[in-house]
Amino acid sequence: PDSTLRPERLAEDNDRALRPQVLDDFIGQAEARANLKVFIQSARQRGEAMDHTLFHGPPGLGKTTLAQIMARELGVNFRMTSGPVLAKAGDLAAILTNLEERDVLFIDEIHRLNPAVEEVLYPALEDYELDLVIGEGPAARTVRIELQPFTLVGATTRLGLLTTPLRDRFGIPTRLQFYTVEELNEIVTRNARLLGAPASPDGALEIARRARGTPRIAGRLLRRVVDFAVVEGDGRVTQQIADHALTRLGVDHLGLDGADRRYLSLIAENYAGGPVGIETLSAALSESRDALEEVIEPFLLQQGLIQRTPRGRMLAAKAWRHLGLNAPQQPGQ
Ligand code: ADP
Repeated sequence: PDSTLRPERLAEDNDRALRPQVLDDFIGQAEARANLKVFIQSARQRGEAMDHTLFHGPPGLGKTTLAQIMARELGVNFRMTSGPVLAKAGDLAAILTNLEERDVLFIDEIHRLNPAVEEVLYPALEDYELDLVIGEGPAARTVRIELQPFTLVGATTRLGLLTTPLRDRFGIPTRLQFYTVEELNEIVTRNARLLGAPASPDGALEIARRARGTPRIAGRLLRRVVDFAVVEGDGRVTQQIADHALTRLGVDHLGLDGADRRYLSLIAENYAGGPVGIETLSAALSESRDALEEVIEPFLLQQGLIQRTPRGRMLAAKAWRHLGLNAPQQPGQ
């Protein structure tokens, strides 16, 4: 059941009908959207490839969607790959040499590029050139291949893991933020309509409040609520059906799921509220450190449930209240 709440991509997210297709249908991220609009229009008017763009922020906030929208609005092809998939320099070379003029190449999880592949990317980004080594030993030689001008759109959940030279090659770095409840409410209302299961205002709001600031989660929760609405109701998403379904799925009123609550309870019960190091938490919860840092912690931090200190993670007062526990008395209080 926890996977309903995890913002990583699952097969069911490949729902084209719900993905906004143009910038004007994209809800939220007002600042990023306003800037992109200008950069897209300028590139079109100049007839040039748009500058390389980096989207960073937690999973499920719309990085891939925005990259697709950019390609559509620029009137060019969209090519998609990801850091871990590009194992060898040749894999990237094959993609780059097949790009048409001004195409958008999207590389997801770009912080996981192999260094040898990253080396190939630098001259491609800077001068639209590729230096390929042909042959081996004394007979080896380098050939330079001219590429079509293109736009790289990189996406990462971990800006800190990008090498500085790679980061410096993006003219347009853009941070995506968690969505407000109002924005998610708009998204849920629109998606419910598109799914043919209209939501009452308080029904949509109930889902929006519990979607962890993340459109991907809002979409997934909505689908499950629609299932309950169809089977147990009259097919409409009401507040009562939404609350019933989300509670059944283990989603609490802040949108936290079992994994979030285990994280918080562990710090409360085993470490008296912290501070406790990330490696310790990772071992105790059997979750990878990456999963904790990329998926679980960003929302807990944003909600003010935990704090990061140099000595480790600590529970904030709000988390104690949410767990229904009393914070231990601090020495000297
Ligand atoms: P990311 O690449 O950041 O992990 P995606 O672009 O794949 O996120 O978006 C995740 C899901 O959320 C997709 O199904 C997408 O349609 C939906 N989505 C993201 N942003 C929005 C938005 N602003 N409005 C409506 N739906 C959105």
